[in-house]
Amino acid sequence: MRGAELKRNMNEIEKRGFVCVAVRVRPLNETEKTKKAFQCVYSLDNQRVLLVDPEKFENNILRQNRQHERQFSYDAAFGPNTSHDEVHAATTAPLIDYVVSGFNATVFAYGATGAGKTYTMIGTKENPGLMTLLTKSLYEKINPDEYTVYLSYLEVYNEIIKDLLNPSAGILELLEDDKGNVQVPGLSRVKAPNTIKIRQILQEGNARRTQEATAANKVSSRSHALLQVTLYKHAVQHGKLFLIDLAGSERASNTLNRGKRLKEGAAINRSLLALGNVINSLSSGNKGRYIA
Ligand code: ADP
Ligand code: MG
Repeated sequence: MRGAELKRNMNEIEKRGFVCVAVRVRPLNETEKTKKAFQCVYSLDNQRVLLVDPEKFENNILRQNRQHERQFSYDAAFGPNTSHDEVHAATTAPLIDYVVSGFNATVFAYGATGAGKTYTMIGTKENPGLMTLLTKSLYEKINPDEYTVYLSYLEVYNEIIKDLLNPSAGILELLEDDKGNVQVPGLSRVKAPNTIKIRQILQEGNARRTQEATAANKVSSRSHALLQVTLYKHAVQHGKLFLIDLAGSERASNTLNRGKRLKEGAAINRSLLALGNVINSLSSGNKGRYIA
């Protein structure tokens, strides 16, 4: 990006804020269809979704005056037939220019277990999600003689950090240096030589994630997975991208969890609550507050 263009984009960021929120509505799954579940979320256009309360059709005389429909607006909204490419083009692709110009960016999927976070962030081998699409477009944008890309991939499960690219590293620690940089000493990083290799690295890492079946999702990922993409320009660290597939927020009653699953759920909800505090603090402009 040239100087003037970068300045224009910076002004745009300052005007619009640093946070972009998009919602993706998934199709009903087979279990929901068999149970004839009520579809309560509809995407209206590329920014608005409609939430319908099932009570609307219950003819309950006592509740007939209640508001049964609500509309919510986001920076982007996607319906059940949207492809990963369309989501990428509208949300994550515009980040590439910023990262190439030296900014850091974070993308994460947040939602209840079974909402489609892993599907969106990781996808499948045949239909890869945002992690692969974003890394691939970054790679296509840079000149390999000038820039080098390194990938690290970790999971946080029950507050324990593991290296998904090097499982033999055991349990890793999270440390903060005297400049306030958060680091994970011992976390491996691999140089991504081309897009085929990037896909292979992500697939290997994903296969090592902690997954367990819950009643809300047969392949529920019970960990947060964080892909760190670091860009070096002439061997100097330049921009960083964090791509995160969060573990699902959940109510114990929905997932029928007991014992180990319940304990995992408590750790997941605690970390999501901390994330919520960070986002609230950032968006309220309340600078300097320490978030525990
Ligand atoms: P989460 O990670 O939020 O717990 P998943 O991403 O594992 O949920 O999605 C749960 C199930 O729904 C998976 O079988 C996934 O393939 C399917 N699914 C999710 N989103 C979509 C979508 N947009 N289109 C089609 N299937 C989807
Ligand atoms: Mg998941």
